[in-house]
Amino acid sequence: VVRAEGVCKSFGSVEVLKGIDLTVRAGQVMCLVGPSGSGKSTFLRCVNHLERIDAGRLYVGDELIGYAERGGRLHELGEKEVARQRRAIGMVFQKFHLFPHLTAWENVVEAPVLVNGEPKAAARARGRELLARVGLADKADSYPSQLSGGQQQRVAIARALAMRPKLMLFDEPTSALDPELVGEVLDVMRGLADDGMTMIVVTHEMGFAREVGDALVFMDDGVVVESGRPADVLGSPREARTRAFLRKVL
Ligand code: ATP
Ligand code: MG
Repeated sequence: VVRAEGVCKSFGSVEVLKGIDLTVRAGQVMCLVGPSGSGKSTFLRCVNHLERIDAGRLYVGDELIGYAERGGRLHELGEKEVARQRRAIGMVFQKFHLFPHLTAWENVVEAPVLVNGEPKAAARARGRELLARVGLADKADSYPSQLSGGQQQRVAIARALAMRPKLMLFDEPTSALDPELVGEVLDVMRGLADDGMTMIVVTHEMGFAREVGDALVFMDDGVVVESGRPADVLGSPREARTRAFLRKVL
């Protein structure tokens, strides 16, 4: 349950998001595609409140991100409240950003213990389970430098899941991977989708979008140009800009 209403974001005089409207229902996977610089990453960062929006509203669940509404007026949330909202949203980036001095298992267990204050024993057990879920039970004690890119990205996904997010954001999670490693990461994401996780996925993997996505949104130049069922948008795009983009990536 993510809802964006007229979301605008500028950097200085550059308008990057020019009124984004979109909805992702609980348990759905929305794939976000578009040319470089169209504002995809910026939008994800706004959902996670890594960027503050200039206008519009962003809801995750029934909460307004970054703000509280009282008496019809918006009040900015304090740091603690923002941190609480952020903990419920997992984010996976193109680069894996694992802690290099921690093993795969320690990477997964760190935040639940330090940030959420979960009991160590329980968090450790769950860390093992999560690594098994991403197919890395046997790599728990390996350091990131000993893992392939695909394995590192799967650890990053397990680490995000350890915080029990109700929403997962993926920003081109397979773009930095060698082609033969892309599938193993997409398989993990497909498993998450099957388990009912709500996801927004920025990706160039149109096969994944078609098979796993419930909706496909095409963004260009800070606006949503077209959206719909992935098979429809990919099969018979209505807008010329969508067709031009798809010709390049398909
Ligand atoms: P890509 O496919 O290359 O990842 P994108 O769709 O994710 O592109 P964004 O990263 O959201 O695009 O960037 C959109 C525009 O906003 C770009 O023109 C970029 O230069 C600009 N931009 C992004 N972040 C900042 C920032 N912190 N300060 C200034 N400009 C920024
Ligand atoms: Mg980007």
